[in-house]
Amino acid sequence: MSSREPTHTEIVLPDLGRKLSDVYSYLGGIPARELSCALRSGDGLSVAYQPQINVRDGLVSAVEALARWHHPRVGPVPPRVFIPIAEDTGLILQITDFVLRDACALANRHCNLTVAVNLSPMLFTLPMLIERCVEIVQQCGTKPTQIEFEITERLPLAGNGFASDSIAALRALGFRIALDDYGVGYSGPRRLSRIDLDKLKIDQSFVRNLDCIGVAMVPEKLREMVELGHAMGLIVTAEGVETEEQCRFLTAVGCDALQGYFFARPMPSDELEGFLMVQDWAPIPLSSEGSSSRARI
Ligand code: C2E
Ligand code: CA
Ligand code: CA
Repeated sequence: MSSREPTHTEIVLPDLGRKLSDVYSYLGGIPARELSCALRSGDGLSVAYQPQINVRDGLVSAVEALARWHHPRVGPVPPRVFIPIAEDTGLILQITDFVLRDACALANRHCNLTVAVNLSPMLFTLPMLIERCVEIVQQCGTKPTQIEFEITERLPLAGNGFASDSIAALRALGFRIALDDYGVGYSGPRRLSRIDLDKLKIDQSFVRNLDCIGVAMVPEKLREMVELGHAMGLIVTAEGVETEEQCRFLTAVGCDALQGYFFARPMPSDELEGFLMVQDWAPIPLSSEGSSSRARI
């Protein structure tokens, strides 16, 4: 497990929603301009990577790129604080560029690795989103098939033809698409079938309470989500996996890949290089009767 990833436990945030004034005052008045300066200079911004483990062979099947911001005065600022600021000020576009470039550099060093990059819902209101992604990936000389865009289920896809069209266009260009935070929204089979997807990422809230129950008691909704994903030919990944018990249950219900602190916290790319070479979290009891065998990881 990485020792370098700050846990942010020292910053206990109330549910601030998107009230910027509250966020600013909580952080001792960090104005958006400081995030903008950090973006211009690159100072304090970085990308951490968290592995996703294929349950069949125990190897890293993908990594998720997560933005990090170390403020000179405040220290590490959690993404759940600075990402909403970036979204409200438009700086999320530059952050996404920054993360995507870093992700491409990593993908170039590992030609079989899929690198996932989060796309904020507000980016789908920008007409140049696709051109921008393509331009960066081309400049970096990266194969689009190695880049997976994570879009949150909170994105109002049903009433937003533009977002669905953009997702389809990205996928047609070879990028992979994952639906993040799956289960917290309302994506039933009909809604899901309207989005061009490769992967479902089951939200952490479904994983959290799995320890204190028996396998037979795994919530029906969790089973249904995995079955639906597989029926649609999608890879199903669960995130927020912190214990061996959770690994067992999630494998038993058929998840294809797992992501969480049990395997590794998000880590800088140099540390990830070592992790990819050693993959020293093994052995864990991942194989289980009843897990379905998927072909597309
Ligand atoms: P997310 O996309 O759902 O990312 C997963 C979050 O869960 C990450 O938090 C990760 O560190 C955390 N996590 C992973 N495994 C575990 C675990 O076992 N237990 C627990 N409790 N947490 C775990 P992080 O890095 O703080 O990011 C929070 C959110 O900020 C992300 O949630 C994503 O919505 C957003 N975010 C981060 N980086 C970016 C970015 O580059 N672009 C955009 N648009 N959003 C980003
Ligand atoms: Ca994500
Ligand atoms: Ca998520």
